[in-house]
Amino acid sequence: MDILSSLEPIVRELIAPAAAHTDSQAVYPRQALQALGSQGLLGLISAADVGGMGAGLPEAVQVVERIAQDCPCTAMVLTMHYCGVALIEPFAAEDTRRAIAQGRHITTLAVSETGSRSHIWAPTGTAAAQGPSAVLLNAHKSMITSAGEADSYVWISRASTGEGNTLWLVDSRLPGLQIPARFDGMGLRGNASSPIIAQDVAVPLSCRLGEDGRGEDVKARYLMPYFPTLIATTSVGLMQGVLRRALQHVAHTRFAENGSGLADLPTIRAYLAKAQLKADQARLLRDDAVQAVLAGRPDAKTRLLQCKAAAAEAALEVSDTAMRVCGGAAFRKDLGIERLFRDARAASVMAPTTDVIYDLLGKALCEAAA
Ligand SMILES: Cc1cc2nc3c(=O)[nH]c(=O)nc-3n(C[C@H](O)[C@H](O)[C@H](O)COP(=O)(O)OP(=O)(O)OC[C@H]3O[C@@H](n4cnc5c(N)ncnc54)[C@H](O)[C@@H]3O)c2cc1C
Repeated sequence: MDILSSLEPIVRELIAPAAAHTDSQAVYPRQALQALGSQGLLGLISAADVGGMGAGLPEAVQVVERIAQDCPCTAMVLTMHYCGVALIEPFAAEDTRRAIAQGRHITTLAVSETGSRSHIWAPTGTAAAQGPSAVLLNAHKSMITSAGEADSYVWISRASTGEGNTLWLVDSRLPGLQIPARFDGMGLRGNASSPIIAQDVAVPLSCRLGEDGRGEDVKARYLMPYFPTLIATTSVGLMQGVLRRALQHVAHTRFAENGSGLADLPTIRAYLAKAQLKADQARLLRDDAVQAVLAGRPDAKTRLLQCKAAAAEAALEVSDTAMRVCGGAAFRKDLGIERLFRDARAASVMAPTTDVIYDLLGKALCEAAA
């Protein structure tokens, strides 16, 4: 499936030229999403029987990585869309699935809350039974990409009865949903990552994604392959983009004093070599995570968490190096480096945060050694 050939013109002609404006004006990348939809790329992982492309994780990785080289903001919006689709596909009604496949419906993940913060496995939002066929959702979601822009939210709440969590497909136009503040972030500024308040939002039981109280199992099965991998991929693409820009600057910048260039400085070359190594290590770990998922390897979960942490942390270092080797010029907007530097900050604090991942992985190591 040659997905990249239909994606490339959209990136070159629309996404890359709009990226600085998307950032400076905090504009949601609506036009880019419409163009992606027109090429079937919003329905990339939707099943063929509803009109989707029937692709999976490797193709989603390709698309997100390419877009992130020029606009990590658009790549993150698409990441959250694909993550939502991964949960919608097994459970939702055919008309919603078909609208996604046809590029008419954008979704996102509404998980993080002001109460549970980055501990996304412990939501405080509730789903109270309202008669035999509906629930009332109440929650204060903290930062939701595409808030007020997406057509639906894949929403997590506490179970409506008993223990555990439950996932819902929530129509973003339902009464009782409010966006109290516009997103004005440091990076990924076009993401519309605003809070969402739900006050007695009536949702039909038919919009439940999986069994009541089994949200963590549903996420582990359907979301886990996509979520860490695609956030990691946004970082992987971002690193390629920031290194490409830094190398262009270094290769073409000269000192009038003697005609030598930045590229003649061994320190600058060493910084670049180390940054490329970091970026490649993260990409290879991400590739191995994808292989682990496809092969059903027992280490798949570990690899998925590792690749998200490794890529997020590498992006912090690599974008920092790009700022350093380009000197004061990198402070200017025109190189595009400071935008990617700011965008790179998000992934490490997006749940599961790097520090939460370190704790999970470290705990598993210690338990295995005990
Ligand atoms: C740009 C952006 C877009 C986002 N989009 C979405 C979205 O679409 N959907 C969504 O649901 N959420 C989204 N989020 C929210 C995100 O997933 C996190 O939940 C949120 O950023 C965590 O912020 P917080 O202030 O609540 O962190 P806190 O939980 O307060 O964490 C603060 C610090 O403590 C550390 N910490 C917390 N718990 C532990 C622990 N157990 N062990 C070690 N360290 C710990 C964290 O790593 C962090 O460094 C987005 C966030 C950003 C920045």
